[in-house]
Amino acid sequence: MAQDNQAHLDVLLVGAGIMSSTLATMLKELDPSLRLEIVEQMEDGAMESSNPWNNAGTGHAGLCELNYTPQAADGSIDIKKAININAMFEESKQFWAHLIETGTFGNPETFIHPVPHLSFVQGKDSIAFLEKRAELLKAHHAFEEMEFTTDKSRMAEWLPLMMAERTDNEEIAVTRVANGTDVNFGALTRQMLSYLAQHDSNTLSYKSKVVGLKRCAQGWEVSIKNLANGQHRTVTSRFVFLGAGGAALPLLQMSGIPEGKGYGGFPVSGQWLRCDNPAVVEQHQAKVYSLAAVGSPPMSVPHLDTRVIDGKKSLLFGPYAGFTTKFLKHGSFLDLPMSVRLGNIGPMLAVGRDNMDLTRYLISEVMQSMEQRLDSLRRFYPQLDPADWKLEIAGQRVQIIKKDAKKGGILQFGTELVSSADGSLAALLGASPGASVTVSIMLDLLKRCFPEQSASPQWQEKLSAIFPAPLKELETNAELYRSTQARSDQLLKLR
Ligand SMILES: Cc1cc2nc3c(=O)[nH]c(=O)nc-3n(C[C@H](O)[C@H](O)[C@H](O)COP(=O)(O)OP(=O)(O)OC[C@H]3O[C@@H](n4cnc5c(N)ncnc54)[C@H](O)[C@@H]3O)c2cc1C
Repeated sequence: MAQDNQAHLDVLLVGAGIMSSTLATMLKELDPSLRLEIVEQMEDGAMESSNPWNNAGTGHAGLCELNYTPQAADGSIDIKKAININAMFEESKQFWAHLIETGTFGNPETFIHPVPHLSFVQGKDSIAFLEKRAELLKAHHAFEEMEFTTDKSRMAEWLPLMMAERTDNEEIAVTRVANGTDVNFGALTRQMLSYLAQHDSNTLSYKSKVVGLKRCAQGWEVSIKNLANGQHRTVTSRFVFLGAGGAALPLLQMSGIPEGKGYGGFPVSGQWLRCDNPAVVEQHQAKVYSLAAVGSPPMSVPHLDTRVIDGKKSLLFGPYAGFTTKFLKHGSFLDLPMSVRLGNIGPMLAVGRDNMDLTRYLISEVMQSMEQRLDSLRRFYPQLDPADWKLEIAGQRVQIIKKDAKKGGILQFGTELVSSADGSLAALLGASPGASVTVSIMLDLLKRCFPEQSASPQWQEKLSAIFPAPLKELETNAELYRSTQARSDQLLKLR
């Protein structure tokens, strides 16, 4: 679509990561007549957190992440979050399966692969926790295929790389679900962007940065700078989505909506160890998650992962956290200081005061030598050869800081959708569980920001065709869950 200087749009999305591309694709499936533009400052989509090397590519479905099943002081284990995240991932799979069914979206094997998900623990207490957790989960239909074992010969079949030459007296246990996935969220994002580009009513503008945002009679007036030639243009749009990853916070502040007041951001950078040696990579076909060290945050859970990127297999281990003041990997060191406002300085200081453990954890992570990093990996893979592993920089996560009546401010590790009361603008803050649950986040956005259309018979009919099993049904209806999963898995070539 040609760009005029004062175009009027129905929908403008900032950022070409997994969030904006999913929302844009979903909206166009529901209403192909929408005039829509995605504005991205980089030269291509998925260059920040959605890039496959910047995230772990785990299709988070609660199959292996031990922090989704917390244990209370009385020993009880709460499995609600694991069930909910599992259902959200199945909702994502329904949407991707629908896109494959359109016939023009492309191949699922470019972005999703079956990779078993395992949890691995050491020591008596952790083994007791893992066994109890497996019993509870197996009673739910979403986890009925979960296997628990302390049998080392079984583990050697599942995890040859990790089990080679381990000492016999080591107390270890694992659970395994064969039906886990590795997702290349970057390839999926680019596939959605190409799919959108097939239609004239969509504009994808790269090397273009949103630099201004203000309310106007038509909704929002958005100023865009062309980074290639320095020229500015203005568009108006009925609805604006701030899918700018870590940079969504400053844009939310720029919008001035009252719902965005009081939010702050806490950036955490990450690093991985990566191995591309085929002789090593071929011995590990799994995503293996363990327990985070006591006192460390949920994103620090160590895991050894098979990755399938552009048809090649690699192993990733980590993440190791770090501190930076940038909100994006390609961002500016001024991002954090420039985000401080009168409205969020209180919550930010309160979080600094109450999270000394986190500060200590980050300092210890930053100070680690390569040898110390390799030692963490040796817990998983005792026989590693240092020459096989190199350090890579992961994406940025900006954790949410928000007001809290009791504490003044709290740090939140999940994602949060912030929208204006009139539904004309929404921003996605936070990082976890992230890309895996994008579809559920966007279904929530549709209800909040497109309430009339969402309730209309046209959208309802299309939504029920795309999502034969809604979220709550997936959690509670075993038969529907099994048949929907079987259908999605077949279309996505997972089984
Ligand atoms: C280390 C790490 C590991 C992770 N592991 C997993 C995992 O295993 N599984 C999982 O599901 N999720 C994981 N995540 C989370 C997941 O990667 C993110 O939730 C997801 O990629 C966020 O997508 P996004 O579209 O919001 O942001 P991004 O992919 O960061 O995209 C935002 C885009 O906005 C652009 N932009 C910003 N400001 C502007 C502007 N003013 N104008 C124009 N463009 C702009 C940026 O250039 C960027 O391209 C992980 C994240 C990290 C950092």
